[in-house]
Parts: sequence; structure tokens; C-alpha cells
Amino acid sequence: MEPYVVSARKYRPQTFQSVVGQSVLTTTLKNAIAQNHLAHAYLFCGPRGVGKTTCARIFAKTINCMQPLPDGEACNTCESCKGFNEQRSFNIHELDAASNNSVDDIRSLVDQVRIPPQVGKYSVYIIDEVHMLSTAAFNAFLKTLEEPPAHAIFILATTEKHKIIPTILSRCQIYDFNRIRINDMVEYLQYIAEQEGITAEEEALNVIAQKADGAMRDALSIFDQVVNFCGTNVTYKDVIANLNVLDYEYYFRLVEHFLKGEITNSLLIFNEILNKGFDGQHFVSGLAAHFRNLLVSRDAETLVLLEVSSSVAQQYQHQAQQCAPNFIYKALEIANDCDLNYRQSKNKRLLVELLLIHLCQFNDNTPTPEKKELKPISETQPKQQPQQRPKLTNTVTTQKPISTKITEEKPILTSAPKSVSITAPAAAPQQPATAPKAQNASTEPQNEPFTEEALIAAWNSFAKTITDETHASNTMLNFPPHKNGNTCMVTLVNNLQQTNLENHINKLTTHLRKTLKNDSITVKITVDSAQVKKMAFTPSEKLNAMIEKKPEIATLKNQLNLTLL
Ligand SMILES: [Zn+2]
Repeated sequence: MEPYVVSARKYRPQTFQSVVGQSVLTTTLKNAIAQNHLAHAYLFCGPRGVGKTTCARIFAKTINCMQPLPDGEACNTCESCKGFNEQRSFNIHELDAASNNSVDDIRSLVDQVRIPPQVGKYSVYIIDEVHMLSTAAFNAFLKTLEEPPAHAIFILATTEKHKIIPTILSRCQIYDFNRIRINDMVEYLQYIAEQEGITAEEEALNVIAQKADGAMRDALSIFDQVVNFCGTNVTYKDVIANLNVLDYEYYFRLVEHFLKGEITNSLLIFNEILNKGFDGQHFVSGLAAHFRNLLVSRDAETLVLLEVSSSVAQQYQHQAQQCAPNFIYKALEIANDCDLNYRQSKNKRLLVELLLIHLCQFNDNTPTPEKKELKPISETQPKQQPQQRPKLTNTVTTQKPISTKITEEKPILTSAPKSVSITAPAAAPQQPATAPKAQNASTEPQNEPFTEEALIAAWNSFAKTITDETHASNTMLNFPPHKNGNTCMVTLVNNLQQTNLENHINKLTTHLRKTLKNDSITVKITVDSAQVKKMAFTPSEKLNAMIEKKPEIATLKNQLNLTLL
């Protein structure tokens, strides 16, 4: 079996072209190399996980390549490129200033800089998190930066440009890296999924990209974790269940009820959301985000601000046409107020319910929204909202195809949440084993003692025999059971997992009884949706989880002025 390599490493880009979402910047770098306009110092700024170090490494490789390709990329076949790709090149030196920030560290770096490279033209020094250098270290470095030897090139990388002293800034060529756009991330995740033989729904990848918040590295590690849960078929439903994300379909349904003034239905949906274990404030900020998305969907010019998959974008456009602009502005405002007041409120549930009631009511005061699909200019013009309308209608005429699409294509996800209602845990396995008894009826019932290790081994061996599509096998391997007397206890994080596993419960019980020679073994499945909240995916979530366990970490972080890498 091949050793498992996390996607962020396995798919680390090897060429400028394969760097995701930074095309302007990589083209500039490539051109500079092709025209031999190399500076001695570069400063790469930008948020974490967007490819600064990766670009620095590709840059170092490319300027040392012995046969660069016509398009300015490294050949990846010459001896120098191979050295870089196998991480044994002597032409690249990396210093992590976060952990080596003393004057001595910089002095030893400066000593190294004087030595010319044995192979290749340039020695590249990458100083990561350069803002962490102490002032004394900065000063010790300044001289080398002013008069570097011809073979030395410095690439300084930082997440906090404002902390770099001006004397350094003025000596560097500055490159600002962008946060990676959701669509670029989705595209790249799709590519990786294909490479790995995984089928993934676009909406599922979109949720992952949103969770990663602009950092490709995070997106890849979340993707790895999701694949761990879901196996080779990554669906939107599985992803939102595993990442504890609220299905946007709820918001679409809610707005429909607001427009019709249906208070009861709105309150019931909110209740359903709370029952699923979602936090009220999470819901409110999601609702505000939904109104914001509706707002930007009204106008073709702002449509680019909508970072969702194309089918969902159509749903937004469709719903936006049903809402009067005044309704959206007002809704945004009061949802935002509710979000702000949430923390102080004594009765948080009531606060949100009032918001919903409000949203159902004030639509009555606004003129009835246009129920029909997009219409040609002549018919929509006489309507109100003089300042908004003209723009919209202009674009409508040019975008004919969209309007037809909207009418024909049904929203893809219709009332998805129904199937996954979360009820009290431990609802299911009352009748675990009626079948197995019959087999052993003639012989003596066995009752040998067994250990938890043996139980887990038997559990895993059964998991490997499951071949159906429901990921029950992955679920079993990811959630090892505990032994409690003769009961095999397992706690899962969502109902989907529970249902899938329950399909196998009779066979599983038989297997455990047979393997462990104990006929009184039963299996008990519980669901604890709070567990999934505790699972940390992004670095900041991991940090929060650590702080929850040890509050001192927060003090430490503040006093030492630490930041996440
Ligand atoms: Zn090469």
C-alpha cells in the first residue's frame, strides 16, 4: 500500500501555472525571470495558506533551472530542478522567523549568504513570517539586504505587512497575494478529486471552500477529512452533516414564507434548525448573509460578488426577483440588529423568533413584489424603485438566456433537510439481535469474556466487509466502539451515519458474538451532534478547542503576541 500523503503536500504546485488563484502575480514573476530582471529582495505579503512559500520555492527552482522552457517555467527534468523537487537542493535555504528570530539566527544566516552556490546560479533565502524578527535581528539583517552578494536572492514572506519596518519595505519588490476566490478553490478541489478517483458534487466542494475562508491549505485539509468520512463519493448532504454547516435550502424556504407572511411556518423551520443542534446566532448571521446574497443577485454587475455554485446562484437570482429591494434592505438591517443584540439578550430564542415575525409582517407594507419571471424593459419599467431598476432591466435584456434558464430549471435541492431530522440520541437499536439467537439455539450459549481491543478488532474486521455505497464502512473505521459490559457502544456525530450503520446492525451483532464467542453482546448506537461542533477543522477552530481545554493558552497567546501561521 502506498503511504498516505495529505493533499496539501501531494498536490503542492510545481510550476507557476499550477499555483491556484494568483495568476497575475505568477505571470509577473515569470516575465521577470524570462527577461532576467531579477531583484535581490522580494517581499511576499498576504493571508496564510494562499501560496506565498510555494511561489517562493517555485521561483527559486525556476531561476536555477538549466533549461528553462520557452514559457518561462522550470523544466522539472534537469538536475537542478530534480534537486528542488526532491527537496535536496543546496540552492534554497528556508528560515522560519517565527521560531528563529534572534540576532544569532540572523547572523548565522548572513554568514551562509557569503558562500556562493556550488551548483546553479543563485542561492535563494526564504525568510518566512519575517515580521516576527526582533528589532535587533532586523537591523543585523539590513546591511546584507542593502549589499547582497550577486548570487543571493532574498524572499521575505509575511502575513502582516504593516509590521515590516519601512527600511526593509523600501528595499524589496513587493508582491501582494490575494485570498483565493471560492470558485478557484472549487475548481482545484474538483481537479484533485478527479485525480484521486473521487466523485464530488460542486455544492459540496463549495461548502468546503467557504469553510476554508480563502486559504487553499485549509481547503485541502478539510477536503482530506471529509473524504475520510465520506469515502469516494462526496455529496453536499454528507459535507454539511460532517462540517456542521446549515443547509442554505432552509433560508430559501424561509424567505418564501416571509414573502407570504406565514409566521407559523417560519417559526417551525427555526425550531427544526435548533433541534438539529445549530446555534441561534449562527442561524441569524446566516440569514443576514442570505439577504446580502439576494441583494447582490438583483444586479448583473454585482453578481460576481456571489460566491456560490452556479445552480445555487440561479436559485438566488430567482428568489431576488421575487423580493422588492425595500424588503431586502429592511430585512438586512433588522437581521443585522438581531445579530448585534444577540449576545446581550436574556431570551435569545424569543429574540430570533421576533425577528422572524417581523420579517413576515413588514413585507405587507411594501408594494407586492413582482411574482413573474424577468420581463422585457417595457413591462418592468413602470414599476417603482427608480434608482435600482434601470440598471437591472438593462442587463436583463442582454442576459436573455438566464431568464429562460430560471423558469425551466427547477432548484436542485428541494426540501432536503426533512430526511435528517435529529431526535433524541439512542433512539434506534432496541432489537439488535433476534436472528443470531436462532442459530445457536441448539448449542450452549457462549459467554466468554473479551477486551475492548478485541472488540475493536472484530468491529474493524466487520467494517472491511461492508461494500455498500453508504460509507457505513468508513463510519465504523472512524468511530471505534467502547466496551461497556457486554454492550458495544458507539457514538456517531449525525443521524445519517446512524441510519447507514443500522442497516448492518443485525449482521454486525452476529459477527461480534461469533468472533468474540459471547452471545450476550449487543450493539448500541448513539448520536451526539455536539461532537461535530467540538471537532476542529480550521486552525482557528483548533486554537479555540485548545483554549477551551486550557484557558492559559489564551493568556500566553496575548502576552507573547502570537498569531496563527
Ligand atoms: Zn530545470
